[in-house]
Amino acid sequence: MPIKVVRRRELTIWEKLYLPQILGGLKITTVHFLRNLSLHAAHSLGLLKHLSAAVTFQYPEQPRPLAVRFRGRHRLTVRDDGTPRCVGCMLCETVCPAKCITIIAGEHPDPNVEKYPIRFDIDLGVCVYCGYCVEVCPEDAIRMDTGILDVAAFSRDQMKLDIHELMDPALRKPIGPADCHLTFPHECRPSGEQLKGDWIRAPLTP
Ligand code: SF4
Ligand code: SF4
Repeated sequence: MPIKVVRRRELTIWEKLYLPQILGGLKITTVHFLRNLSLHAAHSLGLLKHLSAAVTFQYPEQPRPLAVRFRGRHRLTVRDDGTPRCVGCMLCETVCPAKCITIIAGEHPDPNVEKYPIRFDIDLGVCVYCGYCVEVCPEDAIRMDTGILDVAAFSRDQMKLDIHELMDPALRKPIGPADCHLTFPHECRPSGEQLKGDWIRAPLTP
């Protein structure tokens, strides 16, 4: 099969200066600047309200409103007695394409609830925010409606959420033993205990 040689066209001196591109970019920026400036001035006088002008959000001091369907940081929903709704069925762990969910299930004392999570970890450094875990859950036990999107951290370990952070989205790292308010038996990383809490203090669901 014959080889077709395609020679790259030499740039002209005018093109080598990149001036047309720079001037073109400046023109676009100036047009947008003047348009927004005049529209904001007109809006302040009650004119041209039907034409929208660009708005700058001073993030993070002024967070941008999120859409209702926005998928943010996860949380585990709780029953009336403060225990997780999760029944440890492992569907979310199985469906997760990033394999970033780790659950250890324990036996629940209520015969109507088969299991519950002793441990529930999500590695946000690996999560792709697909939302499959939320969709697959048969108990509405996991949601991504916290509206939390600033999940940056200084280390990979800090990106890992455990059951404490998942049940209380207001908790932020570093989490110490005093931050553990879970009353059911769970693997307690903040206090370093294998199992902390008991079902006697957490009344059973009716
Ligand atoms: S959002 Fe997707 S990737 Fe993240 S934990 Fe859920 S299933 Fe896994
Ligand atoms: S969060 Fe839902 S899907 Fe995941 S283990 Fe618990 S009950 Fe099952």
